[in-house]
Amino acid sequence: MNREFPPTEKGRRYEMRAQGLRQFAGLKKDIDRLDPFELAAHANLLVVPFEQVSALSEGTREHLLGAGKDAWSGGAASIPLPDGRTLIILNPTHSKNRHAATLMEEVSHVFLGHKANELAVKDPSGKTTKTRDYNHAIEEEAYSTGAAALVPYSGLKKLIIDGRTAREIARHYGVSTALVEFRIKISRLWGLYEKHLFKG
Ligand SMILES: [Zn+2]
Repeated sequence: MNREFPPTEKGRRYEMRAQGLRQFAGLKKDIDRLDPFELAAHANLLVVPFEQVSALSEGTREHLLGAGKDAWSGGAASIPLPDGRTLIILNPTHSKNRHAATLMEEVSHVFLGHKANELAVKDPSGKTTKTRDYNHAIEEEAYSTGAAALVPYSGLKKLIIDGRTAREIARHYGVSTALVEFRIKISRLWGLYEKHLFKG
């Protein structure tokens, strides 16, 4: 299978970086599944189960798992651990498939050289437009690169042509159906997807 790249400039850029991550993970084919937990260890990230984070108060804990459970997917601690690793927490109320995308975003931040303290910059005057734009750009870059690493373009296109549904493709790569649909749309493959889905 020849490796192909998405038609958009942005898509190609994210795909190139994603390919770098996949290569680093030792994957040879775009059809291979990436294990984000293995890659996280190489990226000096320590994924800790939510229950083991003792710094949270009972109230905060209850909020994060209760009323606020849909408002966060996971995150990195802004201060590194004494051994240099960065602590990552994933929302335990989310599925394993959603964890894959969240964790890959954090891995991408590391590989793309985004600094955690840059993310935390706050303008006391309240004029945070510039910071917010910057944050938005790097969040998009990290999320999109991570998504492309999990569901690379050539593999996605091949499975679409094989007539597989987004759900089946999601199962193949160990990600959520929503992530596969996002990749299909952003890669401009939706037309091809519908054509193969509804034929015969
Ligand atoms: Zn992020």
